[in-house]
Amino acid sequence: MTRAILVTGGATGIGLAVARHFARNGDEVVVTGRRQAPLEAAAKEIGARAVVCDHTDPEAVARLLPQLPDRLDVLVNNAGGQTDFRRSGADGLTPLEVFARDFRANLDANLLSAALTTKAVEDRLTAGGAVVSIGSIAADKGSGSYGAAKAGLASWNLDLARQLGPRDITANVVSPGYIADTEFFGDHLTPERRAHLIESTMLGRPGRPDDIAGAVAFLASPAARDITAQVLNVNGGEHGTR
Ligand code: NDP
Repeated sequence: MTRAILVTGGATGIGLAVARHFARNGDEVVVTGRRQAPLEAAAKEIGARAVVCDHTDPEAVARLLPQLPDRLDVLVNNAGGQTDFRRSGADGLTPLEVFARDFRANLDANLLSAALTTKAVEDRLTAGGAVVSIGSIAADKGSGSYGAAKAGLASWNLDLARQLGPRDITANVVSPGYIADTEFFGDHLTPERRAHLIESTMLGRPGRPDDIAGAVAFLASPAARDITAQVLNVNGGEHGTR
């Protein structure tokens, strides 16, 4: 049976791997993102539909609705990323203003975006469907406002699972560790930091976007119908290393 899937931030990295997985399965996939060019290239490559949307903006999310299928089987809240006040520039702001700007940016990008998108489409989610949101090991490591936002995402997901459960819709979080081959770190990842991240795993290698896509696909599959309100760590064992 063809399912209708929305993958936010589906042009690159983890989102693209997730979208590709569903598209290969024959599902009807919509991918979103803020930049039109990479979004359209990705959609063309995998046979998905591209819709430009900033998921932190309520008006943009409202404009997305008429472009989505009437019924959605799976929502993947993947859009997100990290703004770091040490790198983002002051633009004439005071240090406290810079701090507040970047703190809010991380909450908006990683928590509000998922909550807003889910709120907008919740009536279209079908029985037997699933919401899967992409968290982070940063939630468990005290990683500033980015980690706080991802921890908030896991907490929000509990409430979501409670709300959607009676409609036979599951809500879970997949929490990656260090995933290589995405735009997440930009050019800020030094060889030393990369080596440290890899050494922090039990498996001694970075995760790949396809590792996350596999976990998302499982949580959205019939095999996972009794799994809800969970955070699934997909991080090569990093959460258990010292
Ligand atoms: P990428 O930067 O490659 O992917 C993020 C995607 O989200 C981009 O396509 C970006 O496109 C889109 N995006 C970001 N903000 C918005 C927004 N406001 N509205 C719409 N689209 C948005 O990195 P990853 O694939 O690594 O990241 C995917 C998710 O995985 C994120 O939530 C991230 O926090 C999480 N994660 C990543 C880890 C890693 O090591 N890579 C580790 C743990 C978690 P555009 O800029 O065009 O909008």
